Amino acid sequence: MTKLTDFYFKLIKLIGYILPILLVLLLAYNHIPGFKKKVQIAAVDKMGDVGMKRIASNPEAKGSVAAEFINIPIEAREISEGIWQATGVGNAHLITTSGKDVLFDTGLATQVPKQMNVLNEAVSNLELSHIIVSHSHADHSGGTKFWQEEGIEIVAHAEFEEEQRYLKELEPYFWHRNRTLFPFMPEEPPNIGLIATGGVIPTRRIYNGQPYKFSQGGVDFEVHALPGAEGADNIVLWLPQKKILFSGDFFGPLFPQFPNIFTMRGEKIRKPVEYVNSLKTIIALDPDMIVPSHKDPITDKAVIESGLLKIRDATKYVHDKTVEGMNAGKTVEQLMREIELPANLALTQEHGKVSWAVKSIWEYYATWFHFDKTTELYAVPQSEIYKDITTWMGDEIPALADQYVKANAPEKALHLIQMLLHHDPNNISALSVQKQALQQILERAEATTNNSYEIYWLKYRIRDAQSKLDAQ
Ligand SMILES: [Zn+2]
Repeated sequence: MTKLTDFYFKLIKLIGYILPILLVLLLAYNHIPGFKKKVQIAAVDKMGDVGMKRIASNPEAKGSVAAEFINIPIEAREISEGIWQATGVGNAHLITTSGKDVLFDTGLATQVPKQMNVLNEAVSNLELSHIIVSHSHADHSGGTKFWQEEGIEIVAHAEFEEEQRYLKELEPYFWHRNRTLFPFMPEEPPNIGLIATGGVIPTRRIYNGQPYKFSQGGVDFEVHALPGAEGADNIVLWLPQKKILFSGDFFGPLFPQFPNIFTMRGEKIRKPVEYVNSLKTIIALDPDMIVPSHKDPITDKAVIESGLLKIRDATKYVHDKTVEGMNAGKTVEQLMREIELPANLALTQEHGKVSWAVKSIWEYYATWFHFDKTTELYAVPQSEIYKDITTWMGDEIPALADQYVKANAPEKALHLIQMLLHHDPNNISALSVQKQALQQILERAEATTNNSYEIYWLKYRIRDAQSKLDAQ
């Protein structure tokens, strides 16, 4: 035999061994129940490891509050007897009973394999009757398709599918905005198999004002619809015997905090009065422990009691003052400057910011026509006459803007510079004044509310100005 014939002979023999194995695996993948899912979960686990490592090692992730969530180790901890929390970017909670068990929130798709593992290790014979999903955001509902099996009830708000639909339809738009604010995120949204966002179909829908109550294995469960927080589709789980409230994202990542009724990433405006009413429901429940789906449970009763009242009153205060100002004919900017929380209602604004809430409440009621400029009604933006103004002003704009920076009026400096950069985006003197004005606002933001979204945005704009300056 020639060398070549010998090679082909060996190759055919090898294929003869491998092919039946591949065929068996393919048949098993498609026909043995649960096998396909096991393979997919193992694949997602590997993808998750690679993705999370990539994010954690991205230099942009350093110092970002959002990136810190990625470094939270995934482990199961018993937060109350028989109740387990699998930690992660989004926590998953398992409430065990002497009958079947209940899962509240399913975390991020790429972290499900590990969360499943730690819960299965912590609890022998884990068997679910219900999966309750607090809302449609991917860090709370992402793992649902992995846990889902025939016969398990999927519980979500009646608005869940509508919220999931618009988040999915606008996914490229949200992804672009999120990547701008969180530059360490992957370039594309996950779009393969079980990790693709969306596609969760509830089997039981919860309506506002109609809690779903059930009991099993000695444990009473109540699912309440509490809209207005992270969207119209918020539900919470209440365990009346233990007075534990699983709040999903109702309160956001901090407790207590001023609520985030406006999101910079561009979701729908959240209804402020609905939020206050939902808070009243929680206050009436009188929880001893609040378990959010991010970070640690809150167990200090005094902190819970005073926090709930403060959030309710602060939100109502900002709402009522905005409405009062609208009726008095004030502009939205006037109200953004004027309305501040009184000292007894002071709350951190690291997540939700009062002046942005004022603007959101104004636009929630009045939408986009501010009833002063006729041009607002038409599709010709002010930027179309920027060139006329800047030509007329000649080279004076950067110097004038610089004076505003020196006078500690960086917003006015930005107004001027925006006109020039609109048609001359690489103008060096304009870019350097712009950067100074942005830095001034950043320092002010860090020294006052320390609002994380404001800081992400300003840093992005500073990076952008710097990279244009570097390219000169
Ligand atoms: Zn969340």
